[in-house]
Amino acid sequence: MVDDEGYMGHGMLAPFTAGWQTTDSNPLVIEKSEGSYVYDVNGKKYLDALAGLWCNPLGGNEPRLIAAATKQLNTLPFYHSFWNRTTKPSLDLATELLGIFTSNEMAKVFFTNGGSDANDTQVKLVWYYNNGLGMPNKKKIIARTKSYHGSTLISASLSGLPALHQHFDLPTPFVLHTDCPHYWRFHLPGETEEEFSTRLATNLENLILKEGPETIAAFIAEPVMGAGGVILPPKTYFEKIQAVVKKYDILFIADEVICGFGRLGTMFGCDKYDIKPDLVTIAKALSSAYMPIGAVLVSPKVADVIYSQSNKLGSFSHGFTYSGHPVACAVALETLKIYQERNILNQVNRISPMFQDGLKAFSSSPIIGEIRGTGLILGTEFTDNKSPNELFPPEWKIGAYFGAQCEKHGMLVRVAGDSIMMSPPFIMTSNEVDELISKYGKALKDTERKVEELKYELK
Ligand code: PLP
Repeated sequence: MVDDEGYMGHGMLAPFTAGWQTTDSNPLVIEKSEGSYVYDVNGKKYLDALAGLWCNPLGGNEPRLIAAATKQLNTLPFYHSFWNRTTKPSLDLATELLGIFTSNEMAKVFFTNGGSDANDTQVKLVWYYNNGLGMPNKKKIIARTKSYHGSTLISASLSGLPALHQHFDLPTPFVLHTDCPHYWRFHLPGETEEEFSTRLATNLENLILKEGPETIAAFIAEPVMGAGGVILPPKTYFEKIQAVVKKYDILFIADEVICGFGRLGTMFGCDKYDIKPDLVTIAKALSSAYMPIGAVLVSPKVADVIYSQSNKLGSFSHGFTYSGHPVACAVALETLKIYQERNILNQVNRISPMFQDGLKAFSSSPIIGEIRGTGLILGTEFTDNKSPNELFPPEWKIGAYFGAQCEKHGMLVRVAGDSIMMSPPFIMTSNEVDELISKYGKALKDTERKVEELKYELK
């Protein structure tokens, strides 16, 4: 029952939410969306500076996506894709995706419900592949600290964030983590970006040699780390990492769940950083979040082995009821059509300099350690004295305070500790970008005052 107090103590075990948050305060209940904005149940309007959860580039109420879903619901709301029965939208979407991803040749598409189960699928594909090649010991996966690859058992294991492991008995032993490539935070005194990348590639190689290259199956990376704090690869990083991975016959999995479909100003993060992956994970912007859908793109090298292995075994026994859901596929097809027709890359590249330059102009704030980003993704890290090592006391909750001020001024951002992340819709107008920058500036002023007060209290 919902009483006049609202939804405090509601019945949902909410994702990534602490119990006290639901018992001590009302949730922010979002009721409708319009373009780059969402509205809560009280009618308050917010600029959606995270595009939902990094996933809705086309914003609210896009009539073509609503029409595509409605048409498909009226024609065929569901049929599965098991046992060589399937539907036209899933076949068409597979063809379309194989044409769009160009940084390396891809041969097949496996559909999932989102990013986590797509990354679980990646690990199963890699294992199946190595079993097919007669290399049953080549099973370990190397991911990176601070990465986010999802929250199912395997994808949470791949993720390099302690909160996803603690008290869940994760990561599983077959997952190893190598360095996070955050230059500002982790470089040694005097070390250039290139030298930092060389050191990280050497560390990766040493890890592989320590474990035994014959035991390492795959390396997984987001082109730009999203949930870990928007961390861009330093110069020459992927070039050097790919050389190591290739040397030891290790498959490269590119997790494009956030970067894919234009967020970085290129169709995929792989295009921007010249990554030639063997497997690719996509989700989120694939349907502009109007329907849940994810996918794995499989290169011919892997697909050929999967096919011959499944011929031997009689089946490729992996899949979900909703793999290739026709409504989700129809919406994704229309989404891709819109990206193409509206030249979404031009749009991202038109507004991203305003977004990046406008926000990076706040870098001189005494409470900002680093602002980093590219295209339409940006992270802010609050630290004292501009130093990566002078963190604010965690009990000051500076990041959360900034997030709350954004909310007060009518804007939603992602808060993770003292890091703030933004990945706004691609459809933002120039005025909306100005509004976003102005709201960020107001929240920053509030937060600077708060830090001054807290420091004064300490004296
Ligand atoms: N991979 C990356 C890079 C992500 O950012 C996410 C979600 O944010 C996932 C995987 C998991 O996707 P999902 O939440 O759809 O399971």
